[in-house]
Amino acid sequence: MFDIKSITRKNILNMQAYSSARSEFKGKADVWLDANENPNTTNLNRYPDPLQLQLKGEISKLKNVPLEQIFIGNGSDEAIDLLFRAFCEPGKNKATIFTPTYGMYKVSAAINNVELVEIPLTKTFELPNQQTITSKTKEGGLLFICSPNNPTGNSIELERIRQVAAEFKGIVVIDEAYIDFSPNKRAVSLLGEIPNLVVLQTFSKAYGLAGARLGMAFASPEIITILNKIKPPYNVNTLSIKAALEVIQNKEYVQEQIAQIIIERKRLRIALLNLLFVQKIYPSDANFLLVEFEDSESIFTQLIGKGIVVRNRNSQVKNCLRITIGTAEENQKLLNVLNEISR
Ligand SMILES: *Cc1c(COP(=O)(O)O)cnc(C)c1O
Repeated sequence: MFDIKSITRKNILNMQAYSSARSEFKGKADVWLDANENPNTTNLNRYPDPLQLQLKGEISKLKNVPLEQIFIGNGSDEAIDLLFRAFCEPGKNKATIFTPTYGMYKVSAAINNVELVEIPLTKTFELPNQQTITSKTKEGGLLFICSPNNPTGNSIELERIRQVAAEFKGIVVIDEAYIDFSPNKRAVSLLGEIPNLVVLQTFSKAYGLAGARLGMAFASPEIITILNKIKPPYNVNTLSIKAALEVIQNKEYVQEQIAQIIIERKRLRIALLNLLFVQKIYPSDANFLLVEFEDSESIFTQLIGKGIVVRNRNSQVKNCLRITIGTAEENQKLLNVLNEISR
C-alpha cells in the first residue's frame, strides 16, 4: 500500500502549519478585528480566504474533481516548488524528468538541492520503455511527465502514465498545462485509482490569465493537505481569485477561443510547410508548434529584426523554434515575414 507519510519529509510531517487569523475563525460575524487590517474598505483591505474555497467550488464543478482534492497555487510553478519541499529531502531524494521538457522542474530541483535524473524521450518524443524507466528511478522521489509536453507538443498516453505510476514508489506529477488544447482524456480521471498521482493544470494558457498567476494541483486529499500545510498562508490574492471566477463564468467564451486557436494551429502548420526552409513540424496537442528549420538561429534573428519574437529551442531540439499560436492577424504577420525571408 502507498503510504504518503513514508515519502514526506520528516520536518514537514513534524511541523505545525502557520495559523492565520482568517483560518482560525471561519464563522459569520459583523465586526472583524482579528487580522490588523485597515477597517476602511478599498475592496482589497481584507485578507483573502487562505483556502480559496469559493474558487475551488467552481473548479470542482468545472473539472469534476472533489473540492478536497484541489490545491490552488501562485501559478503551477508554486505547486512544483512545494512538491519538492514536501517530498524531496535535499541532498538525498531525486527527481526524474524526461527531456526535452519544461525548464522549471530543473530550476526547482536546483533551488531545493535535489539531484535530477534526466532520461531522454525517444526520437518521436515518447517515453522510453518501462524497463529503462524502472531501472533509473528505483529510488523514488518525484517523477515529472509533461503531457502535452513543452516544447515538443505531443501527449503521453494515459495507459503509459498508469504503468509508470504503478512501478514508481514516489510521486508522479503529470503536468497538463496545455490539456485544454488537446483532444485526449485528462489524467484527473486516474486520481481514483493511482494514489501517488499529482495532476497540474493552470489558468495561464487556455484560460488567458497568465498575469493572474493561478495554477492548480489535483491529488489525493492526503497530498493536498500537505501542500496546504506548507504553502504561504495567503498565496493566492483577491484580484486573481476574482479574475478566475469571472473567466469560469465565461467558459463558453474560453471554449470559443480554444477552438479558434486550434483552427489557427492547423492553418499555420499547412502554411509553414509550404516554406522551403521549413524541414519539419512536430505533431502538437498544445497552443504552439515546434518547427524545425534549415538554420533556426538565422530565422530567429531575422524574425526579431522584424519585431516578431518566437522561442529559440535550438539548444533542446536541434534547429527548432517553438512558435505560439497567436491571433489570426499575428499569425498572418509571421507568415508574411517568413515569406519575405524565403525570397
Ligand atoms: C506554461 C507552463 C506552466 C504554467 O505555469 P504557471 O506557473 O501556472 O504559469 C506549467 N507547466 C508547463 C509545462 C508550462 O509550459
